[in-house]
Formats: sequence, structure tokens, C-alpha cells
Amino acid sequence: MKLLIPLFALAFSLQNCTAQPSKKQAMSTDKHPAYSNNDSSKVTVTDAEWKKTLPADVFEVARLKGTERPWSSPLESLKDTGTYYCAVCGNALFVSDTKFESGCGWPSFYQPISKTSIIYKPDRTYGMERTEVECGRCNSHLGHVFEDGPPPTGLRYCINGVVLDFKKAQAAEKTFKEKGQ
Ligand SMILES: [Zn+2]
Repeated sequence: MKLLIPLFALAFSLQNCTAQPSKKQAMSTDKHPAYSNNDSSKVTVTDAEWKKTLPADVFEVARLKGTERPWSSPLESLKDTGTYYCAVCGNALFVSDTKFESGCGWPSFYQPISKTSIIYKPDRTYGMERTEVECGRCNSHLGHVFEDGPPPTGLRYCINGVVLDFKKAQAAEKTFKEKGQ
């Protein structure tokens, strides 16, 4: 376990060499026709098709499992109340109530919005044992989950901000919460 942190840092520094320069969050309005904040049906779109519609930095992380540079996302420090959606398909992933300051440089959450919003996959790249998290609707790569988060889950979902769309709290979110309690 002692080797884990240096390797982890190395993996990211290696990736940083080829990472896209930090850009302002791409707020493209030309979303794929499958994009929806309400439809939870599975999305199966080929990478070739995603490549035509997604901004290059989103495609790199979501479909090629890239990692954005730490501290590059404006969402990392965002404290507004609202919902975080998959920037690829619009699937609701996290609510701001579960966001916390992890100090790792990426937006961090301790719990997804629902059990089906996220898919977990073992990731053994870079000689590390990690758990990758993907969008439950479109299987886009989001980031990783680690077991060093705060209560109540003890989990830290370390998510690339570039694959998140943030929408401020609105009536729909309130309804969702009331239903869930
Ligand atoms: Zn998605």
C-alpha cells in the first residue's frame, strides 16, 4: 500500500503531459439527440458517433477514459445548490448536498444520486487497484471511487468536472428529493 500514493501521483503527472490545456467548461448546446435529464433508458451510441457531437475534451475523458488536469474544473470549488448530470447523456449523477472539499483537485462527492446512476468497474491500469465509475445510462467514464471519503458512506467519488453538467436547484429537484424521502 505504501507504493500506492507515489504511483498514483506518477500516473496523473504522466497523463498531465498529454492533457488538453485547461479550458472553460464546455457548455455546448449541440447535445446528442439521446441527451435527456429525464429519460433513464439505456443509451448505446458508438464512439465514432460520440466523437462527432462531443467537445474534444469531453470525448477524451468520457470515451477514452482520460483524466482532466487537477484543479482545472470550475466545478471543483462550486458550492451552489443543484444537480450534477452526465455531460454526455444528461443522466442525473450527484446532488450538491453530497459534494465535499476533498483537496484532490477534482469535484468530489460521497454518494451518487441513486444506485443505478453509476456503474462500478475494476481498474488495474498503472499498476493500481482502483474502482472506475461510469455513467449508468451511457457508460461514459466519469472518474474513480476511493474508500477515504467522509461519513456517512466513507466513499470519495473523484469525478472529472468536464463530464459533468451542473444545473442549479429548481422545482424539479425538490420534487425528486421529496419523493425519495
Ligand atoms: Zn451518461
